[in-house]
Amino acid sequence: MNDKLRAAHNKLQDAVAEIVSGDDWKQMLKIASKFHRYSFNNHLMIFLQRPDATVVAGFNRWKSLGRSVRRGEKGIAIFAPCRYKTKVETDIGEEQTVQQIRGFRVVHVFDISQTEGDDLPDLDAVRPKLLDADAPEGIWDALVSQANEAGFEVVRNRRGSENGYCDFSSKQIAVRPDVAPAQAIKTLIHELGHALLHSEELPRSKEVAEVEVESVAYIVCDASGFDSGDYSFAYVARWPDGSSDLLRDSADRAITCAKGILASLESLAKRSRGFCRC
Ligand SMILES: [Zn+2]
Repeated sequence: MNDKLRAAHNKLQDAVAEIVSGDDWKQMLKIASKFHRYSFNNHLMIFLQRPDATVVAGFNRWKSLGRSVRRGEKGIAIFAPCRYKTKVETDIGEEQTVQQIRGFRVVHVFDISQTEGDDLPDLDAVRPKLLDADAPEGIWDALVSQANEAGFEVVRNRRGSENGYCDFSSKQIAVRPDVAPAQAIKTLIHELGHALLHSEELPRSKEVAEVEVESVAYIVCDASGFDSGDYSFAYVARWPDGSSDLLRDSADRAITCAKGILASLESLAKRSRGFCRC
């Protein structure tokens, strides 16, 4: 069994290495670096003013991407911090220049649909795609039992743009309700991975945690007879700073966790086969 699981992990490593070495990926990083990450409040302001907005940027940012805002388009108002440079004295009496935020001002951004010009490259190739297939019967219930045994309740709920979450304080795992069975199961394994691997011991970073549990999800799906590569490869690749190294370093932990989940699935399947159904 170990060889099979390691082979699945190797496949994941190869696929991620291929994604991050491709031109599409480099293009995506270049584009992503030009788009600002907005705060939660600004996301809310964008949503309230233009609920169908997909990609937003300021007037000049669009210009640098070869697109211009159409005449007469009304901007979306958001807050931008006013930063000032000021000199402070350190503990050892040296003078240091630091940036301070003093209040906010309103600036305007525009959605891509309000602009025209060069096409942005098609980045779909490097985005995780939601799985839309059916899944093997019985696996959802068996995974829920495992989550319950680990002390977590499983609910169908959506929070923001997340596909699922594992809340250690309320001991709740959630999976968004509006996805196909294969995606729901993949997400449930991912969150169960967090519950099993990260309840007691926090990983060194969010990157490590996410790469670890998505590896677990990919391996368990593969061993259960369905392929989550369309989602998992790009999901793992998007974690920065050498996701290939991260993948290699977390292989043993991910495989051991996947093996535990698969062993429980097997014993639950055996138990349910033992019931009299006449
Ligand atoms: Zn996660």
